[in-house]
Amino acid sequence: LLEQKVHQTVLEINLNAIVHNFKMFQQMLKPATKMMVMVKAFAYGSGGTEIANLLQYHKADYLGVAYADEGVEIRKAGISIPVMVLNPEENAFDAITDHLLEADLFSFDQLDLFEKHVQQNGLKNYPVHIEIETGMNRLGFNVSDTTTLIKRFKNNKFLKVQSVFSHLAASEDQVEDAFTIRQYELLIKAAAELRKGIGYDFLRHIANSSAIVRFPSLQLDMVRLGIGLYGVGSKQLSNQLQPALTLKSTIAQLKQVKKGETVSYNRRGVALQNSLIATVRIGYADGYSRRLSNGVGQMLVNGQKAPVIGTVCMDMVMIDVTKIKGVKEGDEVIAFGDGLHIEDVAKSIDTIPYEIMTGISQRVKRVYW
Ligand code: PLP
Repeated sequence: LLEQKVHQTVLEINLNAIVHNFKMFQQMLKPATKMMVMVKAFAYGSGGTEIANLLQYHKADYLGVAYADEGVEIRKAGISIPVMVLNPEENAFDAITDHLLEADLFSFDQLDLFEKHVQQNGLKNYPVHIEIETGMNRLGFNVSDTTTLIKRFKNNKFLKVQSVFSHLAASEDQVEDAFTIRQYELLIKAAAELRKGIGYDFLRHIANSSAIVRFPSLQLDMVRLGIGLYGVGSKQLSNQLQPALTLKSTIAQLKQVKKGETVSYNRRGVALQNSLIATVRIGYADGYSRRLSNGVGQMLVNGQKAPVIGTVCMDMVMIDVTKIKGVKEGDEVIAFGDGLHIEDVAKSIDTIPYEIMTGISQRVKRVYW
């Protein structure tokens, strides 16, 4: 709290809302379906170790990170539940096995190198995850690789297949539902062949947040929850999920600006009338996108919307508060949250909430309540 007073631009994270959302998603799962929560990219900007800790306490089965160092951070914070690393680089193999992280394997070259690493380190039955390419065209073995994969994993003393999975490209997009189902079918076919050939069971998973909501029949043995944890992104569940994030700042100065005067760089913001302008302590260096300049972005002051005027600066932004009663210097301003939906902010600059959440820079203090 002391830190919060030093710099007043904060991302507030409502942990009760996160737990509520986690439980909502849990209730949507069949009793045997496990829950992996993706805490990559600093837990979508909300704080990797803090969120991981909370999830371990509330009995998530698995965590997912993008890169090994994100997993190492989680282990250093004392979190012991299994962690899958989506994109394990060769120079991170030591970190992975030293911290009992589980690599996603997606190519034969990588499989060769990781197997050799495990062997050289005297390890046995080390858990790995096999990613299957089903349509995202990002990472993964092809479905036609199953025969070779079976040869490589059958009676393999060093590696144990912990799961076989794939990633959906468009599970939120109704017009692509046939494509989503096709991806699922390709995965279960490959997994069935691998199961038969390798001779033991493993987890199968493909569903992200929107698939959990929209396709209960695609849950398989585990799901991978991401954005839904923050109460973001699901229109279908908007009444039941609780938005967990609020990006807040304060007014540094109020200025009377005369009709015709301009505001901010390159004089792009023009006062169309005598106006009251508030300078807010947040800018693009905090992750408040410059694309929100000049009326595209709005902020909440005293519960009312005030448009951005002029270009967003590195550390500050000006908003037009002419119509808002009783505004004072030092007043709180909300960039998103509390009725200003991050989904709408994202839409206004042609992006997705994920980009805004993960783009909130480290200068912005995370405050948990
Ligand atoms: N699984 C993988 C492989 C991902 O890359 C992601 C996020 O991008 C997720 C699951 C979670 O997706 P969402 O945040 O849409 O739930």
